[in-house]
Amino acid sequence: MKRVYCLYRVSTKGQVEKDDIPMQKQACHEFVAEQSDWHIEKEFSEKGVSGFKIAAKDRDAIQDLQKAAVEKKFDVLLVFMFDRIGRKEDETPFVVEWFVRQGVEVWSVKEGQQRFDTHVDKLLNYIRFWQASGESIKTSIRTRTRMEQLVKEGHFKGGTAPYGYRLVHKGRVNKRGHEVFDLEIDEYESTVVRRIFHLHTAYGMGPQTLSRRLTEDGVLNRAGRNFVAPSIRNILTNPIYKGVLRFGETLSEPFEHLKIIDDETFRLSQELMEQRSRNREELRRVPRRLAKNCLLVGNIFCGHCGGRLVTSTAGTRYQRANGEEVYRRWWRYLCYNRVRHKGECCGQTGYSAERIDEAVRESIRKLLDGLKKIPMQTVVERRYGLAVDDLEKRLNEARRIEAKSERGIKALKAELAPALMGESKFDPDLLGDAIQAAQVELDEARRLVNNLENELADTETIIRTLERQHSRLVSLSELFDGCDLDAQRMVISQLVDGVYVSSGYQIELRLNVTLEQYVECMDEARAGGEKTTMVLTA
Ligand SMILES: [Zn+2]
Repeated sequence: MKRVYCLYRVSTKGQVEKDDIPMQKQACHEFVAEQSDWHIEKEFSEKGVSGFKIAAKDRDAIQDLQKAAVEKKFDVLLVFMFDRIGRKEDETPFVVEWFVRQGVEVWSVKEGQQRFDTHVDKLLNYIRFWQASGESIKTSIRTRTRMEQLVKEGHFKGGTAPYGYRLVHKGRVNKRGHEVFDLEIDEYESTVVRRIFHLHTAYGMGPQTLSRRLTEDGVLNRAGRNFVAPSIRNILTNPIYKGVLRFGETLSEPFEHLKIIDDETFRLSQELMEQRSRNREELRRVPRRLAKNCLLVGNIFCGHCGGRLVTSTAGTRYQRANGEEVYRRWWRYLCYNRVRHKGECCGQTGYSAERIDEAVRESIRKLLDGLKKIPMQTVVERRYGLAVDDLEKRLNEARRIEAKSERGIKALKAELAPALMGESKFDPDLLGDAIQAAQVELDEARRLVNNLENELADTETIIRTLERQHSRLVSLSELFDGCDLDAQRMVISQLVDGVYVSSGYQIELRLNVTLEQYVECMDEARAGGEKTTMVLTA
């Protein structure tokens, strides 16, 4: 039996729900229940602290845990997400590493086990924390987990009702005491849904044909427009119609009162949709299994037509001087447009993957090497202004959305009184729904404005973030050479938005925004300073 200590803790910054400890606890318990030999020995729980202040009692939990780790009182430390372990974001990797060195396994429900055995583990660790430094990523994970629980319990997650249903108040109340919506079948819309499934399963009509057919028959969607093929595809694959609520990969038990389509018809429909996508896949001729031999997958494009390059193999037979016949095979990147529809691309058809991969690898290596040499001071000075500009841009956008939502709510509320007296063409319930939806948007915008204002005011933190990003880039550069193809591929996807290849092996690396800024620093350091993309010839 492995002795497990759990730590529940509100993270320090920018979270949606102030107190999500019950959610963390539930998630940890479910996680432990899935392991065959884990047993929860002790649970630590505490409230977080705002900003960067550290309360004395907040220090205690980690200190208690560290003491217990030294005394070998437990084997596994389990948290909801790793960011719960450090009091400050950049401290987390080091605290985690400390526990691992004491022989404690550190696990997170959301991210799995943190190990430090190999080069690749170390690399993954850096990338994980580097990526996660955007608060928004963590926020979305947290919200999703709450949503997943709602869905499991059979409640509608919010937003507009799927086609075929309407929103009604059934007296359910959320934890803030606000009444929330539930779903109910809409008579008219559900007949359209039944018709779509019937034409699909009985006559084999696909989304495209169905869209044309409904248009001919004058059937319109809720907004009064024609049904387009993608929305029909969504309808045909949404399990809600057999009564099952879905959020991401979480599915609820089936609910009889939400059932529009019987299970058998729905199952048949899924089979037909799958067949369709298989056929499309064959048409595309993307040999997925081959991709594993090449460095660039999904992020390499044709410099002439902009289309994606796909991986393929070619081979030739030739004779050696001694008469022996040899067969040689090599990997290629092909322009799909050029191969399938000659007219759409006037570039070169294929490129040797080996030649391109080597050139890209070499330039990434050089790039990382160059980055390592830039003094921290230069990076911070150069990037500080850009970071502030970026924050200001985001703040302006958030303020624009805030103002727009405020105007929207005002207009909707103005319509409410006439609607209640029957003097408006709007239905009061519908207006109520719309006001509620607009309020959610407004709250979200206000929160964002507030966060960004705080961030902008906090010069010290901006500088520390820049310093941290720089140290992480330096670590990447030290690890790049030693790691395998998968890890290199991941590093490249972190750094490069796209690789564009043109005739004669002209390769253009389009770097991601952060990296572009670094290259500018580097060019300045070299007194060059000309470009934001790199062009090389293989
Ligand atoms: Zn092309």
